[in-house]
Order: sequence, then C-alpha cells, then structure tokens
Amino acid sequence: MQNMVDGVLYKNTVKTLTAVAESINLDKDVLVRLLKPRRAFIVSVPVRMDDHSIQVFDGYRVQHNQTLGPCKGGIRYHPSVNMTEVAALAMLMTFKNALLHLPLGGAKGGVCVDPSKLSETEMQGLTRRYTTEIHPFIGPERDIPAPDVGTSPQTMAWIMDTYSQKEGFSIPGVVTGKPLEIGGSLGRVSATGLGSIYALRAACEKTDRSLEGMKIAIQGFGNVGSHAAMSAHERGAKIVAVSDVIGGIHNSNGLDIPKLVEHYEKNRSLSDFPDTETLSNADLLELKCDALLPAALDSVIHEENADKIKAEIIVEGANGPVTGAADKILSENGKLIIPDILANGGGVIVSYFEWVQGLAAFFWTEEEVNHRLHSIITNAFDRVWSFSQSQKCTMRDAAMAVALRRLEAAMQLRGLYPR
Ligand code: NAD
Repeated sequence: MQNMVDGVLYKNTVKTLTAVAESINLDKDVLVRLLKPRRAFIVSVPVRMDDHSIQVFDGYRVQHNQTLGPCKGGIRYHPSVNMTEVAALAMLMTFKNALLHLPLGGAKGGVCVDPSKLSETEMQGLTRRYTTEIHPFIGPERDIPAPDVGTSPQTMAWIMDTYSQKEGFSIPGVVTGKPLEIGGSLGRVSATGLGSIYALRAACEKTDRSLEGMKIAIQGFGNVGSHAAMSAHERGAKIVAVSDVIGGIHNSNGLDIPKLVEHYEKNRSLSDFPDTETLSNADLLELKCDALLPAALDSVIHEENADKIKAEIIVEGANGPVTGAADKILSENGKLIIPDILANGGGVIVSYFEWVQGLAAFFWTEEEVNHRLHSIITNAFDRVWSFSQSQKCTMRDAAMAVALRRLEAAMQLRGLYPR
C-alpha cells in the first residue's frame, strides 16, 4: 500500500484525520487502525472490445472499515482512478457513514477507464468481469457497491445480475442505486443533490439567510449537480451558473433549470441554451454568488484559486473538492464550508434505505424516503454545527470529530480480534 501516499486526496484525508484525532484526544489504538484500510484489492479486467481485440483495465476495491456494519461505497469509472484515490474515498465513506449514524462501514471501488470511449457492449463486458473479480468480497452482508462518477443504475443492474448468476438466485441487496424495476428505491437518483440542498437550507437557518432568492453556482451537471440544481430551484433559489466537463453557462438572473435539464437530456450539452453567456469551469468557481456547489471532481478549489472564491457558503457536493491548503484560506476568509461527508451524504442515506427495503422486500413511497432523508441529514447537520460552535472549529473538523467519536466507541466495544 506504499503507493497510496502520493495522492492529494489521500494526503488531505489522512492529514485531517490525524489533526482532528489529536485535537479530540482520540484513542491512539483506534487512530492507527483507521489510518490503514482493512482490505485493498487490485484486479485485472480483460475486456473483448468491439474490434475483437482484448484490452486489460485496472480495477480496484478498498474496504476501509467494517466496525459499524457491511462496507458501503460507490464504484467509479474514470481515467484518473487509482489505488490512492480509491483508498481515500473508502476512508471518507467510513467517516460519512459514522457521522450519519448508518449501520455501515466504508468502501470504494473503481476502474481506470474512460467510459465515454466504450460502447455499451464493452461497458457491460467490463462491468461483468470486474464484478466477477471482486465477487468473493462483496454481498449484502459484506460490501454493497453503488454508483459514482461514470457509473449508473444500468451498471448496478449488470453487477446485480452477474453476482446473482454466480450465486444461482436473485440477490438485489448486493448493490444499491439499481433501477426501480429490479429493487431500486424511489428517490435514490435525486438523493445526493436533494440532500446537499437540505444541508444548505440547514446552514441558512443557522446563519439567518434564506434559500429563497439565494444565488448558487454549481460545477458539474451530472447526477449530483443536476438534482441539486433542480432541488434548489424548486425551493426558490436562483441557479446562476452550471457547468460540465466542457465548460459552463451563466445568467445572473437565474437559469430556467427544468428547461435546462430537458435541453441537456436532449443535446448532452449545455451549449446553445438561450439567454446565457458561456464561462469556463475555473471562472464558475470564482463567480460572484451566495453559495458555490462543486459537484464534479476532487481538488478543484486549491491554494491558487481559494482566495478568489466569492461565495459565502461552499457546499461540497463532490468528494474532496477543496484541498487542505484551500480549506485553510477559505476558513480564514470567513467562508462556511459544508464538508463532503455531510453535504453529499444523501446518496448513501437513500442507498441505505434501498438496502433496508430490499432486505424487507417492502418498498416505501418517495415522500417517506425524502422525509427520512431530511431527518437524517438535518440531525447530522445539527450535531456537526453544535460541535463546531462549542469547540470553535470548522464544520469539516467538527464532522470528522463527531464521526471519529462514534467509531471510537464502536471499535472499543468490539475490541481487537484475536486480542
Ligand atoms: P456524474 O458522472 O453523474 O457527473 C459528473 C459531472 O462532472 C458531469 O457533469 C461531468 O461533465 C462533470 N465533470 C467531469 N470532469 C470534469 C472536470 N474536469 N471539470 C468540470 N466538470 C467535470 O457524477 P456524480 O454522480 O454527479 O458525482 C459527482 C461527484 O459527487 C463525485 O465527486 C462523486 O464522488 C460525488 N458523489 C456522488 C454521489 C452520487 O450519489 N452520485 C454521492 C456522493 C458523492
């Protein structure tokens, strides 16, 4: 696991963990165990391409900690996926699940691949072979994958089918984020974006602001970004800019989000949307607005641009969008950051609901799902807010501290096997 020490996200996560552990005097035995993942797998994923050649991709799955329950975490298909990144994301999942009081541990997986370059047949081949390679280590009681960047409900359907074929019967509980027809949950697709807006609204309530009329810029118009945009728009906020990998669009009076969603679904592009100016991803981050919601990739706010961020509130829709150095600058500039393990917790919360509904074979309405999502995320927000106010620390450190206290108690109760 030596190569893990190179990645920015991994370094930042370990640095925050170590600093917060010291500040709350976390049990040293707990800390040394949390600094390393429990298991990390690298697998080769050979795929028969459409031209009949074989390409071999690198696949990963890291199970960081299982103290609170089965491991849980997404699967990412992206060219930047590597062991370091997957390990950091798995670690963040452990803290996120602990913070949200979910009975789940932390994991993450991925394949180093550019999914836009694969045909559907190649994607299916890649997914089924990756599932075969990690099959011995996943399952409803062991480790339950979900979608992340570059994967979708269809990917989860292929994983569920491959796993079920190997076991000989249908096992929907092996993944979450499935299509509704095969045991998915209502509200799962919108959960992360909606949850991030529930968290932003909770922050508004604590700081005498109103979500209504608030100007928000969103980087990334995929699952998280588009649903955050829609949820905020429905609650009266003005989405002044959005972007995808190509670039962004801007209108200081607010974009018509329902029409934009339609436009994007039809054209797979933000360009040519009426009454907008184009702007780069870098400019979007520095736009004059009340709240900024990075919902694409990690480390997009760093030492060089942190000082130029004008938004008062930063909602981390993506995992790790603010580097450690940027975090310090933003906090010194008085910005309120709602950290990823809280702000984007909606996805894993409704994934947990999907797993529970699947095990019970009894499904809830979308209203029930959203009501329970709201309750879990606002309760977690309150815990983090209270800690940060009483200890005079940032929301990021507070979120980590609250999660660590819960893990510490559970790890001490379970003890160390064999002794
Ligand atoms: P997605 O693949 O649906 O969307 C990603 C978006 O980011 C797309 O609009 C893409 O065009 C854009 N993008 C990609 N590269 C970019 C770049 N270099 N610059 C700017 N934009 C770029 O992914 P998603 O599921 O929305 O996930 C986004 C982030 O949220 C990731 O960090 C992911 O780990 C995190 N997250 C997702 C969920 C979930 O439920 N989907 C849950 C928790 C956290």
